[in-house]
This record gives sequence, structure tokens and C-alpha cells, in this order.
Amino acid sequence: MDTPTLNIQPGCFGGFFARRTQKKAPTHASALQESSQGLSHEGCLEITHTAEKKEDRYYSAFHDFSYGKQDDWWIVGHHEQLPPYLPKADVAARSGDISSLIEQSLDKINGKLRELSLKIHDHPETNFEEKFAHDLLTNFMEKQGFAVTRHYLGLDTAWRAEYAQGQGGRVVGINSEMDALPGLGHACGHNLIAIAGVGVAVALKTALEARRDVAGKIVLLGTPAEEGGGGKIILLERGAYKEMDVCMMCHPAAGAVHSTSIASTTSMQTIYAEYSGQSAHAGQAPWEGTNALDAAVLAYSSISMLRQQIKPDHRVHGIIAGNNWLANVIPDNSKMKWIARAPTSLEVSVLADRLINCMKAAAIATGCEIEVKLGPAYFDLRQNSVLAQDFTDIVGSRYGLPTLSGEHSASTDFGNVSYALPALHPSFAIPTVLNGGNHTPGFTKAARSEEAHKATILVAKGLALTAFRVLTDAEFLSKVQASFEQCTPGQLTD
Ligand SMILES: [Zn+2]
Ligand SMILES: [Zn+2]
Repeated sequence: MDTPTLNIQPGCFGGFFARRTQKKAPTHASALQESSQGLSHEGCLEITHTAEKKEDRYYSAFHDFSYGKQDDWWIVGHHEQLPPYLPKADVAARSGDISSLIEQSLDKINGKLRELSLKIHDHPETNFEEKFAHDLLTNFMEKQGFAVTRHYLGLDTAWRAEYAQGQGGRVVGINSEMDALPGLGHACGHNLIAIAGVGVAVALKTALEARRDVAGKIVLLGTPAEEGGGGKIILLERGAYKEMDVCMMCHPAAGAVHSTSIASTTSMQTIYAEYSGQSAHAGQAPWEGTNALDAAVLAYSSISMLRQQIKPDHRVHGIIAGNNWLANVIPDNSKMKWIARAPTSLEVSVLADRLINCMKAAAIATGCEIEVKLGPAYFDLRQNSVLAQDFTDIVGSRYGLPTLSGEHSASTDFGNVSYALPALHPSFAIPTVLNGGNHTPGFTKAARSEEAHKATILVAKGLALTAFRVLTDAEFLSKVQASFEQCTPGQLTD
């Protein structure tokens, strides 16, 4: 059977992103942190399809986190058979003993990985509180023969596990996320990301040990607080990624049965606003008060109206909170947390400014004081096209997993990593229920299933095989680096 070929060329998203190409940097993006400015780019992947038939199987242009219409989702209990094995010549040519060894290594620790995954799932911990996962995973990596650094670079729940062989080899980085969502548990499936990272690292170590002639280093980072805390951004700024030649991780999502995706994600800016007013008796003398809740409600309403005037691929969402609110007291305090998302950092900075204007206007209207603070800025995800192509070929040919392209409306702090060095962050589908995509109780359950675990192991095998090529194939790494350079951020002309 002929295999449709997905060729990913170094370049840009071309037509897909052309409509939002910015020729000129906006001048009113002053509200953002300096580090997030001027880093917009025009995308880094161009997907072409050489197959004349079955093209639709691979291409999906969508603007939804769950990459694909729900009609196509992998629903629990349905479509549980893998597609037939589809050999592809160039991948088959290097599917020698080492590739099999990498796969066998993951199969060998499969039971242990499942155990780790379930333990993390059963002990959900939120932003920077991943103590249980930190201890569990560092102890495991130590037993696997890695040199482990706990509480890495001043972050209590960050960690690093290293295995090195020889001198002067290349360095492959991998990331394991660990955090859950308040009230929802592992509704983003980071327990699966954690074990995928561990699995890739252990399999690479096995491969290096079998090839004593290869010098190389494997660095697995335990990265806290992806859900808003920007743990990777902190680690990046503190030098954790400096020595890596490439870095990889993967992420589960709802999607087409047994599929993976090399889609990009949106840039994201978190904005905190706090209003301060004056409390007063709401019945006896309301005119003596300055209502901070009114300010928040007014800002919320203004931003809700603003939504009509933003682009379809932009996102705005937020919440209101406050201290000691009572119905018979004019509230003197309110807090808001907003998240703005757009395909590029420049677009998100413009959007953030518009939100802040709504917040300031509400302060003026109500007479409240306002304090605005910015959270970490997540950059859009730059999938390295050469790494993505290799991963796509491997999982398509060896495991029959089609790889989709497109974009997600979610965001990741790995986006910032992808601006610093060549990076790969495939998503992969796990079976869930309708309306049970990421950040829902349905997905929490999905992330615990045996099918989700099996999908994770297959993707970990694909990542490990691509990573091993980085360690052993100098020409391949040159292409990876050339693709990264070609997509240098900040290429906007005047
Ligand atoms: Zn999430
Ligand atoms: Zn996530």
C-alpha cells in the first residue's frame, strides 16, 4: 500500500499565515514586558502533500484546541483499532537494531511508567506545588542511573536528570510537565507528559549504552507550573536550556483517532488588575462608597463587548474575585485575572493593550484606583520543521499514526523554549467523551485510561527515535539548525 507523504519544508506557514503577516511592528504595544516584544514571526512550517489521494487525512485547518471537529474525535469505546502498519522506505532503512532497542526499552519499563502516571494522576498538584511528582520522578530517574538535581535553579519543584557518555557530544533536552488544574485534577493530562519525558530519556540512555562510540548527553527537565505559572520561562531565563542542541516534549489532547499533531499554539499574555475603592453601608450611606465590584463588572462588560471586534483566532477570557464581599457593604476591593491570546506575540500585545484600556476606563468611571500587573508572556510555538518531519515519518511509518497540522488556540510556556533553540512539541490524541476536551472532567478521566497510556508510549517512542538521530546524525542536526535559523524571530521589516 502506498503511504501518503507529508513533507514539511523549512520555511513558513505560507498561505495559512499570510493573512496575518505583519509588515510593520505596532507602535502601541507598550504595556507588555520587554522580553515579549518584537518576537512575532510568520510561522515556521510549510506543509505540502505529495499524495494525490487521501490528502484530507492529514490536513485539518481549524482553530480549536482539540484539533479537529468533534465528529472526528477519538471517542471512548470507538475506533480502538490501530490503522494498518504503513512502512516507508527511508524510515525503514534506519530501523535497525538500535531503533528496535529504543522501542524495546520503552516496552520494558511500560509497567513502571503506567504506575508513575497513575500515582501522579491520583495526587494532582497545581502550579509550583508539584512536590509529590517531584519526589516520585526524581527517585525513579536516580534508580535508572541518571544524575539528578532536585529543586533545580531555585524552583522547589523543578528538577533535572542527566546521563552523559563520552566527551563533546550533542545534548538532547526533554521536558516532563507535572502540574494539574485546581478542582479538575489532571484535566490537561500532564501525568502523561511526565511519563513520556521519563520514557524518552530512559530509552535514549539504553541506546547510548549500546553505542559506546557515540558521545552525547540526555537532559530531562521536570518543569513545574505550565498552567499559568510559566515554569519553563523561569528555567529558560536561569539557563536550564543553554547547553541543549534541541528540546522535545509532547502533549495529549482530544482529536482524531490515533493521530498526532505538529500544530502551533497561540501567544498568551496574562493580565492582573486590582481595583481599590471605599467601603460603605450599602443601605444607609451608599453614596459614601466607591464600588470596586462595579469597576470589575464594568471592565468585564466592556471586554465582553470588545470580543465582537477581535479576530476569530484571538481569545480573551477572565475572572473576577474579591475579598470580604457582602451584599450589604459596598465592596472596596476587586481583582481580575485576564488572559489574552493571539497567534503571534505582536498581536497579543495589541490585544492586551485594548483590554487594559477597558480596565482603566472602568476605574475612571467608578472613581476607583487601579493597579495593573502582567504575568508571564507565553510565546507562540515554533515547531522545528526538520524535527517535525522526522517525527511525522517515524510515527506514520512505524506505528501508523497520521500527523496533522494546523494551529491550536491553547498556549504553552514551551513556546518560549522554541524561540531559544530548535524544539518539537507534538500533540497526540487520546480517547475521551464528547465535549470532554482538555480542561474538562471528561479529559481528567481520559488521561487515566489504558488507551491514553498506550498512545503516550507510541509518541514517546517516536520522540526517542528522532532524538537519537540528533545524537548520531550530524547532517540531520545541521538541517535542524538551519531550519531554526531560517525562522529567526523578529524578522519584521520596518
Ligand atoms: Zn492545560
Ligand atoms: Zn497542558
